[in-house]
Amino acid sequence: MAVTVRAVSRPARGWLEQVYIIEVLRGLGVTFRHFFVNLWRHVLRLLGLRAGPGAVTIQYPDEPAVLGRRARTRHRLLSRADGSPRCTSCLLCETICPAKCIHIVAEESPDPAVEKRARSFDIDIGMCVFCGHCVEACPVDAIHMDVDQVELASYTRSGMIWDMKSLLQERR
Ligand code: SF4
Ligand code: SF4
Repeated sequence: MAVTVRAVSRPARGWLEQVYIIEVLRGLGVTFRHFFVNLWRHVLRLLGLRAGPGAVTIQYPDEPAVLGRRARTRHRLLSRADGSPRCTSCLLCETICPAKCIHIVAEESPDPAVEKRARSFDIDIGMCVFCGHCVEACPVDAIHMDVDQVELASYTRSGMIWDMKSLLQERR
């Protein structure tokens, strides 16, 4: 399939843009326009009158986050019936990952039916772009992504690196 590349030129900045105050005022104008339009619509609807939908703010975390039906969130490694990870350490997910955030160390498996297994399997969630390519690439259905687990934050960068133990955790 031929790929068409469209070059987009960056517009030059005139002196009006360089005197930032005008752009700041324009930005504030947009913000206030949205604020008052939404406020007006909410007031009209409160009075039982017809009005377009106003912007809705979700009171997260008191209210659950509204996610798309196809959202991809937390990764999970799946286990076999005997509890061992299904992963055969083929490295396909690590290879396809566009963010290069999967790091697997393979070792020989004691099971003669399985050539390799993962000694360690880490995903740096802080670098992940949640594309789902790792799930698509896996030949043994060993990795899944949840659709509703968005609370992945940590106070440290190292806390964003999920190891095999965390990735194998069952859904609660
Ligand atoms: S979802 Fe995408 S970016 Fe994240 S680990 Fe999988 S392949 Fe990498
Ligand atoms: S693609 Fe699947 S089997 Fe291969 S290393 Fe990744 S999780 Fe393991």
